[in-house]
Amino acid sequence: MKREKILVVEDRLDFVSLYTDKLRAEKFQVRVASNGTECLKLIDEDRPDLIILDLVMPVMDGFTLLENIKKKTECQNMPTIVFSMREYPEDKKKAFQLGASDYLNKIHTTPNLLLQKINQILSQTTEKKETASYWIAIKESLFDAPKIAKDSNLPMSFKCSRCNTSLLLQLTSQTDSEKLEFKCRFCCPNCTQQKTNPIKEV
Ligand SMILES: [Zn+2]
Repeated sequence: MKREKILVVEDRLDFVSLYTDKLRAEKFQVRVASNGTECLKLIDEDRPDLIILDLVMPVMDGFTLLENIKKKTECQNMPTIVFSMREYPEDKKKAFQLGASDYLNKIHTTPNLLLQKINQILSQTTEKKETASYWIAIKESLFDAPKIAKDSNLPMSFKCSRCNTSLLLQLTSQTDSEKLEFKCRFCCPNCTQQKTNPIKEV
């Protein structure tokens, strides 16, 4: 089975093998970048599932790198673990503010513990990934459409009261259910894209 892709950013190559060997033994696909610029290049070539990064590095420090990673739209939800020798609370705080998923101390983290953290973070991400969302159009005069409009206080035309776009039914799959079950709500595809609230939830 092919496992997730992990990108390790670390300039101390002697140190890297300590834990990359462990990760490769667990069948993760591991790539190593020795600085931030190289890391960004490797992300563009093939998006990893998780990034482990050092803070003190040549070319670009870990914070700047983290900022640059999070600027990429496709990386906003990508888990990142800061792996550093530094143990200052303000470093931790800054890392979390910049969107790091975890902050681990290199000296106190054994390869086994690192592996455990990675598995934990990736399983949470996978659960999120499995939540699929579908936009369904409604025929305003068919079946129970007039009834639901009336009962839920929606316009009979199923048009958004703000921008007059046809409302859609957004179905979101429920990962906690074994059956094919969805949560649904009426949304305006136009206003939703502008990040305002959905029109109506039922
Ligand atoms: Zn609208």
